[in-house]
This record gives sequence, C-alpha cells and structure tokens, in this order.
Amino acid sequence: MALADDFDGLLIDLDGVVWIGREPVPGSAETLVALLAAGKELVFVTNNPGRPPAAYAERLGRMGVEVDPERIVTAGMVAARLAGEAANGGSAFVIGAEPLKEMVAATRTELVVGEPAHSAGVVVVSGHRNFDYEELLTAKRALDAGAALVATSRDPTLPMPGGEWPGTGSILAAVETASGRTAQIGGKPERHLFELALARLGGAERVAMVGDRLSSDIVGGHNAGLTTILVRSGTSSEDAGADGVAPDHVVADLAALLR
Ligand SMILES: [Mg+2]
Repeated sequence: MALADDFDGLLIDLDGVVWIGREPVPGSAETLVALLAAGKELVFVTNNPGRPPAAYAERLGRMGVEVDPERIVTAGMVAARLAGEAANGGSAFVIGAEPLKEMVAATRTELVVGEPAHSAGVVVVSGHRNFDYEELLTAKRALDAGAALVATSRDPTLPMPGGEWPGTGSILAAVETASGRTAQIGGKPERHLFELALARLGGAERVAMVGDRLSSDIVGGHNAGLTTILVRSGTSSEDAGADGVAPDHVVADLAALLR
C-alpha cells in the first residue's frame, strides 16, 4: 500500500519538492498527475512570493499538471493581506520582488520608496536578488518611526541547482537586527497560510503536509494538526527552529508517495 492511500487531501510545497530552481524534481510531474487522477485534493503552498498564483499554475500546467490558480496559496498573498490590515489605508515600503509589490498595492495600500517611505505604515520583507543597503536603511527609518513589520517567511535559504541561495530569512535577519523589531510572518509555519490553504482543499478530511523544510513545512503542518511528510529532495542545510517537532514520515521525494 502506498503512503498516498492514507490521505484524500495533500498540501504540497513547491520549491525543493516539485522543482528546484528551473528544474523539475524527477518524477514529481508524473506523481502529481497520478494523485489528481486518483481523486486526491491538492493545494500547493509556497513561501516563495516571487510569482503570482496564476504563474505557478501555468508552470505546473507546462509540466502536464492541470490546477486552478485557486489551488495555489503563497506566503506573498498572506503577507500582503496582513500588510494591508496593518497599513489600514496608509502606505507600505516593500522589500521584495514585483509580484509581491503588486499584491500589497492590491490591498489599497500606497507603495512608497525613498524619503516618503520613512513614514510608511508598514514595512514588508521578502527575499529578492536586488536587496541592498539603501533598502535596509529605509526599512530601519520606517520601523524606528513606528511602522509595522510583516515578512513572508523566515526560511533562511532557497534550494537551487548547484547549492542553496540566501532566502527571505537571511534578509529579514538584517532588517530585524537593524531595527530591533520582530516581524509578523505570513507564510509557513504560521497559521494564516495553513488556514487559507485548508479552506481551499475541497472538504478533504485525511490531510497531509508534504515539504522539504522542517522549520516551515513540518512545524507548520504539525501545528495545523496535519500528518507531516518530509521529502529529502530539497533543502539540505541543517534546519534550526524545528522545536523538537519530527515529521511523521520521511521519504526520498514526491514520487515515493506512490511507491
Ligand atoms: Mg520547500
């Protein structure tokens, strides 16, 4: 009997599970197609806010996995919502990629940069490749003046072919250190993302969280009351912050769910 038989719904992480950078994890596409064909309810959950849900759905579609964008929940969506609530009609300074900025702007929050950002109502932090000292300085100015601090995750790294890259947690550490403040987190392991994902799971009752990171996927899944499955295909670094939480199952990769 395959492990997947125990569940009628799965929350599945993307980076390190379905793909690594631009490369699909071998066997992941075939496995997702088979799980859908078997009637499993799937929702994809990612702490990567680098693209909107529709772009992830399109990428899955190119792999032959047909999913509605509604079935994709990103930390960016959740962080944007939290930022909108914190800004409460005011303004935000966003450290992050363009899609995250658009999501924050869509909460009717004005995006500000430079001098006007020093009085922003909220600072939003997410990893992006053009992070620099000016952004760090602007964030500190705003936070010192009382801005709220929201981030997409604390994931220290991002799995990439050839070795991990610094993730949102690395950049957030700089902002928190500079300001002495602690961010509210939109993504895994916090409950907001799980609540949204579970609401979109089509009524599945036996649900597992499948991911490659202990401190976000496994701790978050555990706290949400789900069975947790750690896959070994993604992040390889020692993962601090798991608080003694161990996964219920450890498998090599997504394809192992069907073996
Ligand atoms: Mg991952």
